[in-house]
Amino acid sequence: MWQIPLFDLRLAEQEFEAVQAVLRSGWLTMGRVTEQFEQAFAEFIGTKYAFAVSNGTAALHLANLVVGIGAGDEVICPALTFITGANAILYTGAQPVFADITGVDDFNISPDDIEAHITERTKAIEIVHYGGYPCAMERITDIADRYNLFLIEDCAHAPGAEYGGKKCGNLGDIGCFSFFSNKNMTTAEGGMITTNNDELAEKIRLMRSHGMTSQTLDRHYGRAFSYNVVELGYNYRIDEIRSALGIVQLEKLRDSEQSRRQLTEYYEHRLNAIRGLTTPFQQTPGTSSYHIFPILLDDHVDRQEFMTFLKSKGIQTSIHYPPIHLFSYYQQHFGYSKNFLPVTETVAAREVTLPLYPGLTFEQIDYIVETIETAIRA
Ligand SMILES: *Cc1c(COP(=O)(O)O)cnc(C)c1O
Repeated sequence: MWQIPLFDLRLAEQEFEAVQAVLRSGWLTMGRVTEQFEQAFAEFIGTKYAFAVSNGTAALHLANLVVGIGAGDEVICPALTFITGANAILYTGAQPVFADITGVDDFNISPDDIEAHITERTKAIEIVHYGGYPCAMERITDIADRYNLFLIEDCAHAPGAEYGGKKCGNLGDIGCFSFFSNKNMTTAEGGMITTNNDELAEKIRLMRSHGMTSQTLDRHYGRAFSYNVVELGYNYRIDEIRSALGIVQLEKLRDSEQSRRQLTEYYEHRLNAIRGLTTPFQQTPGTSSYHIFPILLDDHVDRQEFMTFLKSKGIQTSIHYPPIHLFSYYQQHFGYSKNFLPVTETVAAREVTLPLYPGLTFEQIDYIVETIETAIRA
């Protein structure tokens, strides 16, 4: 249907072979392949620990739980993100408190607005590196330190992104990654939690698998005959098939990131010459992982018409994101309404995400940019 889709995934022989090897091995879940994936990921991010889980939402839920978030607590987070960022906080019984984003040229959470929302109930800050562009971490970690708050990084967009010489996911107390099929690296469904904290690591290990003190693999190896349950846990395990995919995808990440960077730079170069839109994140700290390519339409450009025109030319676009606080569920249950987060709402109303994936070509970008020019002129 699309001549140029928003995202396109190409797996190859390495992935097929890795999956087949697992199927042939006869051991399908939480085994040596998963341990290998976790070790490789921890090494990549630079953290002491990495725990693979069933998806990014499970990672965020566990992250909130293990730092002790629960009923009566508040966690400050952005609203310009995927719904799960706030839902994961709600699952614990705590209240997500939305802070606005920085500006029309930086869609990340505003450190000033984080600080403005701190109350005696605030226990944690859960940030998102939007599009893979690192947040203003120096200011945010300073705020977390001064108010004694846990800092959770949602790195679903940011595997490989860097700030101050460290990778995202190694900048706060816990990092949460998603390997959903449209992310920079995928395991179909999957996620990862990173931390350097021994105590949090032990809780994550327990709670991802029912709070049980030994696992099927331990019993298989004769390391244990029985188990105790010491925490209220969940089944947030990953399986060996996904972990095998993850190992291959992690190896490919550097190359795919390089393609994404080159394509992003080309987009920016071409679009800077065009009236009627701007491209954010031209001056942000650190190095992006270039997960998506967002643009911001000027006030006078009708987004619906713009996206419809691109669709008529075979180009798929998207919106990142409809803001969480204006979803019916959030409005009805928490009384949010329009104008609560002015900058978030301005950006949410004018943002359009253009196609970006390693197989995209410069010629295709030329075609997209020419179509955009025509759309804006019309
Ligand atoms: C994809 C995504 C998640 C969660 O991912 P799932 O693996 O689908 O649960 C969380 N936060 C952001 C910003 C995402 O883009």
